[in-house]
Amino acid sequence: MFKNVSVTFCPDNTWIRFDSWSQHFYIQRDQWSIVDGRYVADAGLFIDAFGVNTNNLRIFQCTTTSNIVIKAAFNITGTGADLMLDGVTFGDLFLQGIEEVWSGSFGDYNVSTFARSASRGISVNIVDGGGVSSVSHSIWGWRHSRPGSVTMYTHFSDETLRTAQQFMFTAAHEFGHNLGIGDHPSHAAAGNIMRWAADGRNTHHFVSAENISDVLESARRQRRQARW
Ligand SMILES: [Zn+2]
Repeated sequence: MFKNVSVTFCPDNTWIRFDSWSQHFYIQRDQWSIVDGRYVADAGLFIDAFGVNTNNLRIFQCTTTSNIVIKAAFNITGTGADLMLDGVTFGDLFLQGIEEVWSGSFGDYNVSTFARSASRGISVNIVDGGGVSSVSHSIWGWRHSRPGSVTMYTHFSDETLRTAQQFMFTAAHEFGHNLGIGDHPSHAAAGNIMRWAADGRNTHHFVSAENISDVLESARRQRRQARW
């Protein structure tokens, strides 16, 4: 289940306690506000309390605010991982692309995504060369505990170097597969990050509210969501 955090309100409203697995923390009255009847708190509070460098993939939805926090850790290796593009390594562009594209307000969803390096994270191989990026899944299929391993290429198949932006969008697309969502048919999802062939050269891709509801549905059912 993705609703991993349970919430306890102090009767006089001076604190809220959050529990997740064996950990818990409190936020104080000046750390939240109430907007349109909903409690709003900075996602950074959760990250400080529960950490980001856990292995693999975690999705939290605060039961009180409905805010969503996605935390993913990646073990990045490969001949292209430490090569630089515009002063940044491909490894860092990979993480940055995921955080930027998968954070924001998508319809009614407020999502904060944190992508970090960690030795026990999702395995990512960045190849210095041309090819079509992909995620391979275990023969046992996708689950949160088995998000698949990622192969990324610094160049397109015709050996043209990707721009930083193109590489970042591709990272974000592949991460959608780690989150358990499938490719979108191209005719029905212009510009969507999960559009089939988002590995192409478009200069802009975005996450939609539908993508986020698919992510939550995958988490709930532990089954990949396909929209063909
Ligand atoms: Zn794809």
